[in-house]
Amino acid sequence: MALKLQPGTRLVVATHNPGKVRELAEILENRFALVTAGALGLAEPDETETSFVGNALLKARAAADASGLVALADDSGLSVTALDGSPGIYSARWAGPTKDFAMAMKKVEDRLEEARATDFSAWFTSALALAWPGGPAVVVEGRVDGTLSFPPRGDKGFGYDPIFTPQGFAETFGEMDPAAKDAMSHRARAFAKLKAALW
Ligand code: IMP
Repeated sequence: MALKLQPGTRLVVATHNPGKVRELAEILENRFALVTAGALGLAEPDETETSFVGNALLKARAAADASGLVALADDSGLSVTALDGSPGIYSARWAGPTKDFAMAMKKVEDRLEEARATDFSAWFTSALALAWPGGPAVVVEGRVDGTLSFPPRGDKGFGYDPIFTPQGFAETFGEMDPAAKDAMSHRARAFAKLKAALW
């Protein structure tokens, strides 16, 4: 069976964040009817896997099986070479319950200093999983490589954007025009793969 998604398909997005749904709808060119896991009252599963792909798949599978709809989930984060890939799947958790990314970025800086790191390379990963209820799933991953620098610069992005400069650019993701970031980000690359696979 070819896994193709017909335009207009009702998709449940496995997030409780309305901002993410808006962003996803735009990336998906409003091709599908999106509903959030939150709006359907679905429980948020614990992210117990050890990889971005594993966690994206776990979230998509849980939402698809609970709702009976095709489900889309993502998992993303920053990996730092000198920290053996940390914070990785713990990127959101490093910011704590108050989502304090100034603190999370300081933690990255402190860890690099403790390790007397000379390698400041890092990468963002975005894993996207699409699962059919009780059926198959498709998972893709996008990555963008770059370099970390401190102090953080720019207020246009979110999360770890102010310390990350993508390869071949001079500005951090925090300073960059959002459209420029969206054109080459890990999320854009993952979505390009998903689109190539599904429509
Ligand atoms: P998730 O919601 O579990 O996928 O958590 C992803 C976390 O990784 C976010 O809270 C951000 O801290 C970080 N992250 C993912 N993508 C980006 C990005 O494009 N810029 C900055 N931080 C990101």
